[in-house]
Amino acid sequence: MIVHKFGGTSVGNAQRFSSVVDILLDQRRRSGGDAGQVVVVSAMSGVTDALIAGARAAAEGRDTVYREIKARLLEKHLTVVETLLNHSRERVEIGGLVEDRLHELERLYRSIAILGELTMRGCDAVASFGEQLSALILAAALRERDCRAQAISATELIVTDGRFGAATPLMEPTRQRLRERIAPLVERGVTPVITGYIAATEKGVTTTLGRGGSDYSAAIIGAGLGADEVWIWSDVNGILTADPNIVPEARTLRELSYAEAANLAYYGADVLHPRTIRPLAASSIPLRILNSFNPADPGTLIVAHPSADRELMPALLSSTGLSLIAIGSQDDSWTLHMSARALHCLSEAGVDVLMFSQSFSEHNLNLVVREQDRQHCLNVLRSELNSTGSLHHVEVKENVATVSVVGVPGWNEAGIVPHAFAALGRLGTRVIAVAQAATEHSVSFCIPEEQVVDTVRFLHRELRLG
Ligand code: ASP
Ligand code: MG
Repeated sequence: MIVHKFGGTSVGNAQRFSSVVDILLDQRRRSGGDAGQVVVVSAMSGVTDALIAGARAAAEGRDTVYREIKARLLEKHLTVVETLLNHSRERVEIGGLVEDRLHELERLYRSIAILGELTMRGCDAVASFGEQLSALILAAALRERDCRAQAISATELIVTDGRFGAATPLMEPTRQRLRERIAPLVERGVTPVITGYIAATEKGVTTTLGRGGSDYSAAIIGAGLGADEVWIWSDVNGILTADPNIVPEARTLRELSYAEAANLAYYGADVLHPRTIRPLAASSIPLRILNSFNPADPGTLIVAHPSADRELMPALLSSTGLSLIAIGSQDDSWTLHMSARALHCLSEAGVDVLMFSQSFSEHNLNLVVREQDRQHCLNVLRSELNSTGSLHHVEVKENVATVSVVGVPGWNEAGIVPHAFAALGRLGTRVIAVAQAATEHSVSFCIPEEQVVDTVRFLHRELRLG
């Protein structure tokens, strides 16, 4: 049995949904029709961001904003239904279900507006709609091509604790539900299409596994079912030495160990959620990262023991669309305790801090967050830290990016960090903040967004990765 996970760009529009169906049917044919398939699907790209933006707008009383968001989401999904589904019965039925779900979303927005507050629990309830919609559509598209498929919400399968926004699965009850509900379907030749990212507590309250968490869902489901392999379909040829949109000659890292892949994911390899590796490593289930836009490419294979003769290469990971928030005090009242509190309250509020660094001489903490989280992050920090009077200083730099150089032990003796610093110095990249691993194999730089393309290209050449 193979668990196939498709990310947001793989289901970005009607044509992409259709390619996903082609891939699944092709894989089924190749396996002679008897290897079971389980599908895990993300929300269409941009949908989760829009859902959460709507919830925040509702809490702030901006009614027209959340209504507009709901209307746009309705149009986006109905366009896919109309273009993709030809049998009028499926089209009418799925179209109706999409409308029902989005009416429900609007009701939820209205309740948030009345309360005037968005809890993490409420945010998860809102964020869960995207995957529900894409699973409904993908299952219908498979049925139209004579593949028996059934959309299933992971709220009925993955049981988690109640840590909304970044819940942790309880593997025993999850395994039991997967065996009871999913295994029999697969045995009967049905393809379950399961929502990624979302889950529920034992009492049935919806939770999420954290942004980008559909990869993690696929790993939990693969481990729970004892799958032969888990395949994550993204929009690039696996894990590469750099983003191929920036460096066209970037090369794919063909084989990685679980530990190496986990390290890359941790540094922001967007193709892989950091929590994905652990459940698979525990059951020695191989993981492949493949490209749904180029299914013939073999991608990256992640296993416990990669072959000894594989090529070892470092990788450059870059993320754009970020903001840097520097907080602190002008005097020495800023303490490590304050940093700990800031990080704690942001984690509780569901803000992903992608990188942070502490400057002792300036008494401040630098936090790098996604652009769309900036305002929320500032609100949380102000309400948490202002009460003590020690938050004197808040500075925001927009349009920043991070570039991480993640090395592998044994690539060269001195480690990669000195090379990276030297290269940035030669190019004259402005480094705003730095975070470095004590191993000297990895380092992350926060730099102005407009310098990312040149910097990544230059580093790729200087480190001879091309
Ligand atoms: N849709 C969710 C997100 O955008 C989960 C995922 O795509 O993996 O974060
Ligand atoms: Mg992802």
